[in-house]
Amino acid sequence: MIIDCFDAAALSEAFGIDMRSVDGLGTGAAWGRVAPGGASTHHRHDETELLVIVAGRGELVVGAERHPVASGTVALFEPFEAHVVENTGDQDLVFLTQYWRDSARAVSSATPVTSEHGDRPVFVFSTPPTPNGDLHLGHLSGPYLGADAYVRFQRMNGASIWHLTGSDDFQSYVVDCARREGRSNAEVAAHYSAEIAETLRLMDIPLDQYTVTNADPGYVPALKDFFTRLVDSDAIVPTDGPALFDPKTGQYLYEVDVHGGCPGCGEATGGNICEKCGEPNTVVDLADPVAKPSGEAPIAGTARRYVLPLHEHADTVLGHHRRGRVPARLRELAARLFRRERVDIPVSHPSDWGITPHEADGAGQVIWVWPEMAFGFLHGIQKLGERLGRDWTAAEPADDWKIVHFFGYDNSFYHAILYPVLYQLALPGWTPDIDYHVNEFFLYDGLKFSTSRRHAIWGKQILDADSVDAVRYFLARNRPEAERTNFTLDAYEHTLVTTLIGTWQAWLNDLGQRVADHYDGVAPDAGNWTPEHAGFLGQLAARLGALTASLRPGGFSLNQAAAELDALVADALRFSRRERALAQAGGMPDEVRTATALELAAAALLAHGAAPVMPRFAARLAEALGQPAPDQWPSTVELIPPGSKVTLTQTTFFRPTSRSLS
Ligand SMILES: [Zn+2]
Repeated sequence: MIIDCFDAAALSEAFGIDMRSVDGLGTGAAWGRVAPGGASTHHRHDETELLVIVAGRGELVVGAERHPVASGTVALFEPFEAHVVENTGDQDLVFLTQYWRDSARAVSSATPVTSEHGDRPVFVFSTPPTPNGDLHLGHLSGPYLGADAYVRFQRMNGASIWHLTGSDDFQSYVVDCARREGRSNAEVAAHYSAEIAETLRLMDIPLDQYTVTNADPGYVPALKDFFTRLVDSDAIVPTDGPALFDPKTGQYLYEVDVHGGCPGCGEATGGNICEKCGEPNTVVDLADPVAKPSGEAPIAGTARRYVLPLHEHADTVLGHHRRGRVPARLRELAARLFRRERVDIPVSHPSDWGITPHEADGAGQVIWVWPEMAFGFLHGIQKLGERLGRDWTAAEPADDWKIVHFFGYDNSFYHAILYPVLYQLALPGWTPDIDYHVNEFFLYDGLKFSTSRRHAIWGKQILDADSVDAVRYFLARNRPEAERTNFTLDAYEHTLVTTLIGTWQAWLNDLGQRVADHYDGVAPDAGNWTPEHAGFLGQLAARLGALTASLRPGGFSLNQAAAELDALVADALRFSRRERALAQAGGMPDEVRTATALELAAAALLAHGAAPVMPRFAARLAEALGQPAPDQWPSTVELIPPGSKVTLTQTTFFRPTSRSLS
């Protein structure tokens, strides 16, 4: 036998608390002690873990839920369940833990049958676009399509989830655009903000909240209050620091008004953020800077701004990154950035376009638009809550909120590093739980899509009721998820003509023709099953599993989802061709109707599986199969009810492009 007693003197530090392993129990095992007021670090693992509290009391924090525990409590953590053990009492909390690997249980945890968000409200944000132009396919393929498909999939799985964005009116790009167009900043912002909303509608991206920062009456005072909380935290301080000015106009230079070599990677970059390496710059650290107004070398001077010494908050960022889905690319950016000795970030700038702080020290400055956005997200949630009758407030965000951000890599620093620190400073009682989904740049004919240079295919050029599903499919398949990808009109046309019309539609129309010819246009019931029939059913189930995995938060990839949809059609076509000869020979009708029922099941699975990516197509396909529009994600592959009216022959799902796009 084994007898092992808790010995406070034999512990050593692990997972942020004191632990000692116990050997020989047949599973991993350890004693643990959490001091009063202490807590283990937030973590998740593949082992199943059993915890027995033997002394003290505290709370187990699992996801957003807190469970009180005391001596005599037993708890079990499923694989990957994020958990923290907190001591809320005044004496040591002592526990014994046992943990073991159970692969089947781990796989089951990784593939839940409903939304992994449970009952929590989920707020999905696509980056608020800058109203200095309309949206092009580069924008649409990135955060907007990503967020929309994510929300649609989660809704089908029962999540309480909303898509929020807005118009980021106080960007300096708006000022730059207004100069070029000879209009006021506010006119430019209002004009393009409305255009953007319309383009999202054309892309079948409905929004639950669209905050227009320059037009929302409650926004300005609430933002100023948020900024005051930052000032009151004493973490941001008005500081006279080095700055650049235009030698001719004397204008203070930042963002679009200055460019030079990035101090991080050396690439050409604009002020404040490098699109290539993702690191911030302070403008004065640019190599060979050029002032945009005059086109000449800037002159150095001094400006007073509120400055955040971000390097002092590296632990806040690290702790935050333990909680949610934070892609390795973002963790790497944080690790790289915090290798710098100092990272001083001005959070206000001298400008007359933006919102001036309450504070006297803020005179002549505006709250920088990027810190502003950190508040804007919370404000959007509050506004949404007002319409839904929920008491969500920006001043008191709740720990059960799940926030999900979709953005391009050049916004990584702001979203995943700066904002968690601002939240910690302004709202110290809140533990934000945020997932991040990041995309790279989309190129158009080999060059970056660019609003300011007008190098783009605009959403309105290509989107209409006939093209929207094809555009969404093509962008899903080719959007730059892991690396830069290139858009060409030729490739789009090729996919439309050969894949969507030449393969998908051809198969669906042909299937409809066979149902019309042999079964009077209604779905036959399956009869006798051959081993190949059962094999195909298994193949469809595997395809559903792969498609599901590509839409879940952990493995979210529209590249993969679109590839799975296409592969599902390819599977069905191969099966159809193999079975065709028997049908033509006129023999074995019980087996032939099984094959037809299975092809219809494949089409119904396509209708459900395509709903997040191609909602219009999905609804029309379901209708052509005599089925209601797909609103629940399937947990298995089902035959459509025998007798369902099938109108696949008469339905046109995709049409060739009718207008000139170049
Ligand atoms: Zn760089």
